[in-house]
Amino acid sequence: MSDNRVPEIKTVAAPDGVEGAGFFATSLEKVVGIARANSLWPLPFATSCCGIEFMATMGSHYDISRFGSERPSFSPRQADLLMVMGTIAKKMAPIVKQVYEQMAEPRWVLAMGACASSGGIFDSYSVLQGIDRIIPVDVYVPGCPPRPEQVLEGLMRIQELAKNESLRRRDSPEYQALLASYNIK
Ligand code: SF4
Repeated sequence: MSDNRVPEIKTVAAPDGVEGAGFFATSLEKVVGIARANSLWPLPFATSCCGIEFMATMGSHYDISRFGSERPSFSPRQADLLMVMGTIAKKMAPIVKQVYEQMAEPRWVLAMGACASSGGIFDSYSVLQGIDRIIPVDVYVPGCPPRPEQVLEGLMRIQELAKNESLRRRDSPEYQALLASYNIK
């Protein structure tokens, strides 16, 4: 900072609850939601230029660690958030799907950039026209490439989903039907 002002430090807001002198009560669902939302571990599936923009997002200037997501996981079994960034060739589609299937629930998916979201400029026989052809996507981040601010905005949208998700959602018939529509067990 150019001046000597101390930046304002914001803390995570407490969930809705009942409070009084010496006690605070809330539901387990809300506490779990806050914990999940602020410790999302991304698996960066980067194939091309959008991946470079993600590297900037990880760097000190944009500082994704402010959101508790500074720990990228290259093992699907230790990741909550699949971030697909870049052009996905049809030959690569089964690999993306396999990675998704290896992630434990609850898992979220962010499609970063035009290519991952829709195939982008590559309207060709060899390019997958959006990863939602093979796996369910929670948040789309537009752009070619999106700026790091947009990636962080997308991450915050995922945080909102994680924070407000019912603990039973993943067992619901609707969610099971969604997975079944992608032929995922
Ligand atoms: S959306 Fe644009 S920047 Fe991102 S991978 Fe595709 S061509 Fe590259």
